[in-house]
Amino acid sequence: MEYRILGNTSLRVSALSFGASSLGGVFRDVNQADAIRAVHLSLDLGINFIDVSPFYGLTKAETVLGKALAGVRRDRYILATKVGRYGDQIGDFDFSANRVTVSVDESLARLGVDYVDIIQAHDIEFGDLRQVIDQTVPALRRLQQAGKVRFVGITGLPLSVLQYVAERVPIDTILSYCHYELNDTSLESLTPYLKDKGIGVISASPLGMGLLSTRGTPPWHPAPSNMKEICARAAAHCRDRGADLEKLAIQFAVANPDIATTLVGSANPANMERNIRWIGEPIDRALLAEVLQILRPIHNVTWPSGRPENNLHPA
Ligand code: NAD
Repeated sequence: MEYRILGNTSLRVSALSFGASSLGGVFRDVNQADAIRAVHLSLDLGINFIDVSPFYGLTKAETVLGKALAGVRRDRYILATKVGRYGDQIGDFDFSANRVTVSVDESLARLGVDYVDIIQAHDIEFGDLRQVIDQTVPALRRLQQAGKVRFVGITGLPLSVLQYVAERVPIDTILSYCHYELNDTSLESLTPYLKDKGIGVISASPLGMGLLSTRGTPPWHPAPSNMKEICARAAAHCRDRGADLEKLAIQFAVANPDIATTLVGSANPANMERNIRWIGEPIDRALLAEVLQILRPIHNVTWPSGRPENNLHPA
């Protein structure tokens, strides 16, 4: 496993990391014993960074992860969770100083730990960005002073929103998703800026939350239908060549050294074993060129996320 330094945090994170949303059953019903084995196997094979949120499975992912981490030495993993998002509706977001402060205590209790390494404001494009800047991040900094969190980050889909907030309040990390994968490399446009500011870059969803997989997307997936069709064509092409689109997608995502870590999720231990093994193997350059060609019509195509007014901020 390769390890990279996460911005100015000095955290040394595995290039591939474990996204625990799958533990909350967001993609399918999961077997708890399998989910716990997936976490242990990932740690045993060199993954040292785990990301979760109270939103995933409406606290279930944190609870299952807490069971998995019970008895694991605290210095074996770097743990990130989130605040502010507690459901799917706009009314389920609460970035107020009070709520996020209580939220961290609730997460620590579910996870069975005294501190988390990174606390992140979750999907900030659904919030009032003024509040995120003036209240949420300062409240999280107070928790840092209190020793409950070591670093403070933000997460979201629109890169312009992440940059807008990073310009206005000091943050340690950003978590971007679906913007560094075979069909979308737009995160590259922001990495020089983030590097310059010493902000650690976490990229999530190398499989596009199922777009770049043989199983395809869950029903809630927000991508437009032609994107799903073209990605399914890429999956079929790989299958015809006796290859896995998932393998190519994960190898591609992890290869960018400007991204400290790439979060992939699976509650299936066999999937995690494959994902970790694949990043140690050379990428099939010919297949990569063919797949990029298939995906070209949807390159950097994305979908709207969050409050309309937040998508208007220039980067
Ligand atoms: P992903 O692209 O990793 O896709 C996950 C899906 O792919 C799951 O259905 C999983 O079972 C499947 N999968 C994984 N490995 C596979 C393999 N080898 N073969 C076949 N299928 C495989 O997307 P993700 O889970 O959404 O992202 C990873 C993590 O990133 C999340 O768990 C979460 O921690 C984080 N994340 C955060 C945000 C945010 O903060 N807004 C958004 C997205 C993701």
